[in-house]
Amino acid sequence: KFAAGQPAPQDLWEMDRRHALHPWTNFGSFEKDGALVIARGEGCYLWDAEGRRYLDAVGGLWCTNLGLGRKDMAQAIADQAERLAFSNTFVDVTNEPSARLAAKLASLAPGDLNRVHFTTGGSTAVDTAARLVWYYQSCRGQRQKTDLVAREHSYHGSTYLSQSVGKRPGDRVEEFRYMEAGIHHLSVPNPYRRPEGMSEEAFCDFLVAEFEDLIARVGADRIGGFFAEPIQASGGVIVPPKGYLRRMWEICRRHDILFIADEVVTAFGRLGHWFASEDVFEVIPDVITCAKGLTSGYQPLGAMIFSDRIWEVMAEGGERWFTSGLTYAGHPVACAAGLKTIEIIENEGLLANAAEVGDYFLERLQGLEALPLVGQVRGQRLMVCVENVGNKDSKEPLPDGANESKRISDAAEAMGLMVRPIGHLNVMSPPLVITKPQVDFVAETLEK
Ligand code: PLP
Repeated sequence: KFAAGQPAPQDLWEMDRRHALHPWTNFGSFEKDGALVIARGEGCYLWDAEGRRYLDAVGGLWCTNLGLGRKDMAQAIADQAERLAFSNTFVDVTNEPSARLAAKLASLAPGDLNRVHFTTGGSTAVDTAARLVWYYQSCRGQRQKTDLVAREHSYHGSTYLSQSVGKRPGDRVEEFRYMEAGIHHLSVPNPYRRPEGMSEEAFCDFLVAEFEDLIARVGADRIGGFFAEPIQASGGVIVPPKGYLRRMWEICRRHDILFIADEVVTAFGRLGHWFASEDVFEVIPDVITCAKGLTSGYQPLGAMIFSDRIWEVMAEGGERWFTSGLTYAGHPVACAAGLKTIEIIENEGLLANAAEVGDYFLERLQGLEALPLVGQVRGQRLMVCVENVGNKDSKEPLPDGANESKRISDAAEAMGLMVRPIGHLNVMSPPLVITKPQVDFVAETLEK
């Protein structure tokens, strides 16, 4: 259907438009606008098929933490693909990169989180964590303790179960089905949109009381796990009120509810730490789900890291099967990419860079709050969002907020900058290697 040989950019665009269904396709605009064809990446920059350069402040999709085009990453991947491109890790088989990465993650994770189950990405890690809750509680003789608690505006993935745990506005459409029974959603802990006249401390008390009320109503004997992104990412870079996560964790401990920190975005340096739970929020979760920065986007990989305590309960008594697992779990090439990513972050001091430049990034972008359109710039380090509003005092959204944010992203793109429109927000999560002059470019371009 297309001419042989190297396709022209226009042909690629056309192939895609005619044959691909993209994640989160808008059928209204896709047919008309087609897709942007990205051809190459190096450091924080992307080039499209026509040769235009963009500074990628989106970081792929919260994931290209090392920046692109690294020869050492490509070499590690190529070497492993040549040595052993694939071997499954079912039942009792393993491979070197998978075993080494599991041990490395155990050494970096907080507390006694020494057990690792690999998945293909974040959704499948969350999916498996939900099953782990059921499995663990059942092994403890608590077969009724199956309900799951999460928050409004959370995003935990796109499989049936992970998307049912999450609840971002706009994601739930009537054409799909979601698991409703046994999943509860608490209020979004967004201090910017707390009730008028309520202090941040009182707002935190309200959120904590809401969880306690839910437990009293449903029964602690029915609630098995609480899922929380330490900072809600695509729900709007929501940094919860001070002390909130720690208090929610304490409630979980009191009621034997597993605390699952979904660190798919916040781990591996985005906030200047390996994991945010303990270092930023003083919480030692029972389970951490991660993906994205784990391989810096060079290979698809996710992991569920969980405690020795959970392992011991599940393993007690012997003959019992954890019948959950994916063909590509522990994929040797993906795990080799994970090991190399961690080695580079360690050797090049990228956590420290993310901390230093990340603080500058947030501070520099907060200068945009002077603009009439900008209600708030919030986030932490290399995880930032600009909330656009129609009225700064009332915080009233723009009448057509989603289109306005898309217009801002499109205008930035025309000036060589990628920022991501989500609803009425513009969201950013650049690579950890971003420099201060590049941060200045982001801020100046957005201001224009
Ligand atoms: N959890 C969080 C917090 C995420 O932000 C995402 C993706 O953005 C996921 C889970 C799903 O990860 P994946 O797209 O790799 O399945």
